[in-house]
Amino acid sequence: MNALANEFVERLRSVIGTPAAGAPFGLHEPEIGDLEKKYLNECLDSTFVSSVGAFIPQFEKRIAEITGAKYAIAVSNGTVGLQVALFLAGVRPGDEVIVPTLSFIATANAVSHAGAVPHFIDSELSTLGMSPEALRDRLTAMRRDAGGTLRNPLTGARIAAISPMHTLGHPVRIEEIADIAAEFGIPLVEDAAESLGSFVTTRSGERKHTGTFGITGMISFNGNKTITTGGGGVILTDDDELGPLAKHLTTTAKMPHKWEFEHDHIGWNFRMPNLNAALGMAQLEKFDRFLDQKRRLAVAYGNAFADFEGGRFSFEPEGTESNYWLCAVQLDDPSLALRDEVLQACHDAGFLTRPMWNLLHQQRMYSSAPAAGDSLGGSLDTAIALHASLICIPSTPKLAERL
Ligand SMILES: *Cc1c(COP(=O)(O)O)cnc(C)c1O
Repeated sequence: MNALANEFVERLRSVIGTPAAGAPFGLHEPEIGDLEKKYLNECLDSTFVSSVGAFIPQFEKRIAEITGAKYAIAVSNGTVGLQVALFLAGVRPGDEVIVPTLSFIATANAVSHAGAVPHFIDSELSTLGMSPEALRDRLTAMRRDAGGTLRNPLTGARIAAISPMHTLGHPVRIEEIADIAAEFGIPLVEDAAESLGSFVTTRSGERKHTGTFGITGMISFNGNKTITTGGGGVILTDDDELGPLAKHLTTTAKMPHKWEFEHDHIGWNFRMPNLNAALGMAQLEKFDRFLDQKRRLAVAYGNAFADFEGGRFSFEPEGTESNYWLCAVQLDDPSLALRDEVLQACHDAGFLTRPMWNLLHQQRMYSSAPAAGDSLGGSLDTAIALHASLICIPSTPKLAERL
């Protein structure tokens, strides 16, 4: 067997020990206990299990407090949250939205469900997220039409938004991306699905939460995220028009009235049920502990891999605080064969490590979507290398108890 793969497994073992037979260490498992059961029972007893109930506004208020967003609108999952966030930012059918090719499928699917087309660009090694340089190059390769609208010269489509993603919880260089977006006059919509609890220290010294730099942003509470509501998400915005509109549009766009069913838009039923918000309220009480445990786990992995020949632990970018949603090790040699040997060795030893997502521009639905590396120049080389070299390692908060 490959010596590097063996050594990789040894380093994992040195941090979290050996899994019990039949109980491998997963990547990120939710912790559900008595508090979750208590709140869920309260919710059941209230009979308000569906689209209205006391837990929903409580949950929204806590997320607004944590993120500093003026409005936090709970929705049924992150993917629809991003779809609505893009719609609110002005994305319409036929438009293109710039996204990193190195992301989970939902980043591109949300664009598609908004009727638009994802337009893929490269990522960078230091943050694992959208490269500001690649963004600038790409936008510079676009053309202004007579009316001043920025368009892709190959497709004629309007560039309607830029949607970076905070990969594995590590913040991208969001201020630089926001500056470029402003310079080109394109709205910024953050896919902060993975980064609840991840902050950036801004140039003005403010500690600002990811997902609050754009006109709109989204955080996910899927079962594998830092906290879970079972399924769920939230739309973030500071905009006094878009905040209430997000709530209105995701709750069927019904006009307030005691009995009339009058609707003023083709709205969505994307509400987060009260049951899920109840689960979320219990999780939020543990959120600080989760963050602390994940950080301690990251420090321990960082130490264990410090002198690992063949790769390095992926630390939070400078000037940021990552939630370390998923800890990852980046192999020095971007090779799918080597990567898979390491994954195989880990799985054989009961460590359920995972690679990054297959690149979006290579997924069959998006293989002919606009992407850097076409006749307008650029490349997706860094994303391709990251895909072939990153390995996500067990990051469940509770594993910190094994340190
Ligand atoms: C989890 C995730 C989403 C949203 O997922 P849902 O399962 O719909 O909540 C979107 N983008 C990224 C990058 C994600 O990791």
